[in-house]
Amino acid sequence: MTLDQVTQRKLWIFDMDGTLSEAQHDFDAIRCTLGLPDDLPILESIAALPPEQAKAVNEQLDEIELEISKASKPAEGAAELLEALIANDCKIGILTRNNLVNIQVTLDAAGLYQYFDEVDLISRDCIAPKPAPDGIFHLVDRWQGDISDAIMIGDSIHDIAAGNNAGVTSVYYDPDGVFEHRKQADICVRSLRELIPSG
Ligand SMILES: [Mg+2]
Repeated sequence: MTLDQVTQRKLWIFDMDGTLSEAQHDFDAIRCTLGLPDDLPILESIAALPPEQAKAVNEQLDEIELEISKASKPAEGAAELLEALIANDCKIGILTRNNLVNIQVTLDAAGLYQYFDEVDLISRDCIAPKPAPDGIFHLVDRWQGDISDAIMIGDSIHDIAAGNNAGVTSVYYDPDGVFEHRKQADICVRSLRELIPSG
């Protein structure tokens, strides 16, 4: 599969933090603050806690992430890519492990909110979090599209795994070019500008 083939797709599902917005989350520091094990994903660690404790830790996580959201900046090329996709009659949505309030705050702070229809912003509040494929299926169904026309773009293994679990093309974005999880991804890009359809 080539980059040119991928950029002709019509159904684009983006991760948010570290993909459309510049990476700011220090997940190790967040795990430490929340008293969670340092070798497991945060949401899954919280889900394994007793319900009362999980609720309290979740609220603490919401507060930490809200502060991060308020300081969000757009990733280089994000606005250009979204404008090009809209001009090309593509569908665009967000699938994040963050919550709905923080999607709105993040996109607003990063100047990207106006590109999205609110019903295409899918958070951990309404669907099983990535790497579950549910959010991808939900958006493709909503758009009445074909799963073969969809791509999942993100900066973490959760994004790539969600794409793989849904059977869609996974695009791995890493502005540093390290691509730790390159073997699992279909396409690797260092800049969102690489994904702008060539016309
Ligand atoms: Mg991310």
